[in-house]
Amino acid sequence: MKDHNCIFCKIANGDIPSRTICENEKFRVILDNGPATEGHALVLPKEHFADLFEIPADWAADAMKTAQAAAELLKEKLGADGLNIVQNNGEAAGQTVRHFHMHIIPRYNGDGQNILWKPGHPSDAELDETCKKILR
Ligand code: AMP
Ligand code: ZN
Repeated sequence: MKDHNCIFCKIANGDIPSRTICENEKFRVILDNGPATEGHALVLPKEHFADLFEIPADWAADAMKTAQAAAELLKEKLGADGLNIVQNNGEAAGQTVRHFHMHIIPRYNGDGQNILWKPGHPSDAELDETCKKILR
C-alpha cells in the first residue's frame, strides 16, 4: 500500500524525481539531499511502512540485502574507507520521515562526522536489572 501524503512513497515509486543509484522490484536507493558524507544514500521500500515495527519481516530482510548491494556499490565507486548503516524509528530516535528507510553512509578517513553515542556507565546491578526486565 502507498500513502498518498508520503513524500518517500512518491520518491520510491518515481512520482517525484530523485537521484537513484540502484533499484529493484521492492526498493529504490536514492542519494540523501542532506548528506552526512559524499554518497549518503537512503534505501526506500516502494510500499509504505512507517518504521521497523510496521515493516514485514520478509521486507526487512530484503531491505538489508538491498543495503548491502548499495554499500558495495558506494565503496567501489567512491572509495569509502568505512560505512555506517543507520535506521531511525520514532521521533525519540530522530526519525523525521515516517516511511521506513535505511541510511547508508560511506565513511572516509578524517571526514569529521561522528555517528556514535556517548557510552553510559551502569553498575553490574543496573545491567542485571535491565536484563531481568527484558527476559521476564
Ligand atoms: P530520518 O531523520 O532518519 O527520518 O532521515 C530522513 C532523511 O531524509 C534525512 O537525512 C534527510 O536529509 C532526507 N531527506 C528528506 N527529504 C528528502 C528528499 N526529498 N530527497 C532526499 N533525501 C531527503
Ligand atoms: Zn510512504
